Amino acid sequence: MSVLVVGSIALDDIKTPLEEHSEMLGGSASYGCVAASFFSPVNLVGIVGEDFPSEHVELFKRRNVDLTGLKIAPGKTFRWSGEYMWDLNTRETRSVALNVFEHFTPTLPAKYEETPIVLLANIAPDLQHHVLDQVRLPRFVIADTMDLWISIARQRLVELLARIHLLILNDGEARQLTGETSLIKAARKLREMGPAYVAVKKGEHGCLLFGSDNQFFSCPAYPLEDIHDPTGAGDTFAGGLAGYLAKDGAEVNFSMLRRGVVHGSVLASYCVEAFSLERLKTLTHDQIAGRYEIFRRLSQFDVD
Ligand code: AMP
Repeated sequence: MSVLVVGSIALDDIKTPLEEHSEMLGGSASYGCVAASFFSPVNLVGIVGEDFPSEHVELFKRRNVDLTGLKIAPGKTFRWSGEYMWDLNTRETRSVALNVFEHFTPTLPAKYEETPIVLLANIAPDLQHHVLDQVRLPRFVIADTMDLWISIARQRLVELLARIHLLILNDGEARQLTGETSLIKAARKLREMGPAYVAVKKGEHGCLLFGSDNQFFSCPAYPLEDIHDPTGAGDTFAGGLAGYLAKDGAEVNFSMLRRGVVHGSVLASYCVEAFSLERLKTLTHDQIAGRYEIFRRLSQFDVD
């Protein structure tokens, strides 16, 4: 099965305490589609300006991403700039320029309309709705979001929750959206607002997956010694998870989601080893399988 990915495609300027790089490939859809492509065919929906370097388009092509839904418009590509503090967890947005994204209201290519798995990667909820409106009977819809949309587009985001199966957000965003300090209560509230499943990411501490009241899974984080750039970890996680569900092809249930969360975490752990999508460019299936096995061992405790 295929995955439809809609989100931002960006040129990022990123500063960490040790390094600074500018005009690098970024955006939620870039990370999401490349991550998903390790497991399944991907249909990308996005927009870039005429300044978007062709080498990035070539990367999507090498990953066999269908680019019929990628629009190259007059104007500049979306730009984002962020700076990380010493803990590499705290991040400040230095600037955002929507550019060609400002008036992006895509019409889905006809061949995308029946994509079974949909990943609404982090982007304005209005655009997430607009794309979802055009998909016929999707089997499983995943949405990611960020603090910005909770602040400025809360109502549209809440409306989206009623239309999706899995919401992905980080712990701070879960608290911000629900007003609950307990993540257990927050996840319950979010599930009552629509999605059957909620994945709460906790940065370097892993991820919690919630289903119905007795369905709970805690995925550890891979103990990485050197993180170079945390940007895109969440988008890569979401893409890896969505791709895994599409690859499996069966009806999505909690055990499949548990394995999907681990696959997403494996890909995210590789993503942060280098700036931008550099590490994902060289990633192999053997490396994914190797780290999946380490996650399996990390999660067991009743062994000698
Ligand atoms: P993450 O580290 O998972 O939060 O994702 C970082 C990526 O999100 C960067 O590559 C940015 O280009 C992109 N991004 C940042 N702000 C926004 C926004 N308001 N809308 C869409 N994408 C964004």
